[in-house]
Amino acid sequence: MELLNIKKLDLQNKKVFIRCDFNVPMDEFGNISDDRRIRSAIATINFCLDQDCSIILASHLGRPNGEVNEKYSLMPVARRLHQLLKREIILAKDVVGDDAVAKAAALKPTEVLLLENLRYEAGETKNDIELSKKLADMVDIYINDAFGVCHRAHSSVAGVTEFFDINHKAAGFLLQKEIQFFGKLMKKPTRPFAAIIGGSKVSGKLEALTNLLPRVDKIFIGGGMAFTFLKQMGYNIGASLVEDDLLQDAQNVMDEAKKLGVKFYLPVDVIAAEKFAADAVSKIVTAQEIPDNWMGLDIGPATVRLYREGLNDVQTILWNGPMGVYEMEKFARGSSKIAHFVADSYATTVVGGGDTADLVQRIGLDEEMSFISTGGGASLELLEGKILPGVAPLIIEE
Ligand code: AMP
Repeated sequence: MELLNIKKLDLQNKKVFIRCDFNVPMDEFGNISDDRRIRSAIATINFCLDQDCSIILASHLGRPNGEVNEKYSLMPVARRLHQLLKREIILAKDVVGDDAVAKAAALKPTEVLLLENLRYEAGETKNDIELSKKLADMVDIYINDAFGVCHRAHSSVAGVTEFFDINHKAAGFLLQKEIQFFGKLMKKPTRPFAAIIGGSKVSGKLEALTNLLPRVDKIFIGGGMAFTFLKQMGYNIGASLVEDDLLQDAQNVMDEAKKLGVKFYLPVDVIAAEKFAADAVSKIVTAQEIPDNWMGLDIGPATVRLYREGLNDVQTILWNGPMGVYEMEKFARGSSKIAHFVADSYATTVVGGGDTADLVQRIGLDEEMSFISTGGGASLELLEGKILPGVAPLIIEE
């Protein structure tokens, strides 16, 4: 899939709208705790600055639900952008109100204006075409570099593209890179290709699993979702997370894997705890012998060894979803061990966004992976084989 390329646009001196994903995590004092998403947009912004563009940046932050709420102001983002770009960032007081429109109109070449939180406007999440038009009216050119929201048909992501022809819209560098990595993964991965799939529930990953099955050589299951499979295999899973309504689906996945010759790995041991708590009493038990009322909260050491063994010869690794409750130190070991192994391998390693990106970063291995996606939901939908509503209008028709 080829996307309209920012390098092919005539950008010189133009007014450019760049939809970014500055939805960054904040601590309790309102400080940005991880600015990776902001840093990821810098290449596209600098490319436009180099061509004397006047730049209007826009993003959402959190869920202000259509109302102005200072808690969700993009002011901290403006400050971080100022540090990273080393130039003044003009912050509008609103999104498409008098202040934003006046500031946008007065914007000179190489000046950067940041609109306030797009979700202060109730129309944004409804893909309101009036809002899209107001955003489009501010500029000559539209660039989407917000991979993390491309799975949402929102005004600034989907509707707005209708107001630009193919010579006036394109994907930014980050979006290009995300689509390229996942495209290669799904179409021509270097084999053997392994997917490590974890996270809380089968329901969240079932579509991705189904779509991945015909494409991969091996699948390694971890996290809470493993227990639905283990229960279906007849094991006693105690009080572990389970989705009883998906037992048959789990069976279907295992049957399909067998039919396709995909090696399907499940945990052989787990760290079981008496309760879901950071200070819970815990012990290592085999997957067959989880005591009643105990819950498996991480993969065990034998599973780590088994998975390492299975991953030894692979050339491409896709990882989506933690192996255990990594937010609690006691149950983070499985994810951490797998992360180290993946990072040290010579394979191409692609990490899905969201929790998996978070855990890899916590361990300090983010630089060691080939690629870490900036979008959890968006990357999952790509793995499900979907064409994202923010990407569809930017695809070059063949
Ligand atoms: P997801 O959003 O589906 O990718 O799931 C991520 C969440 O799964 C993380 O917050 C983990 O704490 C949680 N998780 C991982 N393993 C388990 C488990 N064995 N039991 C319960 N929750 C888990």
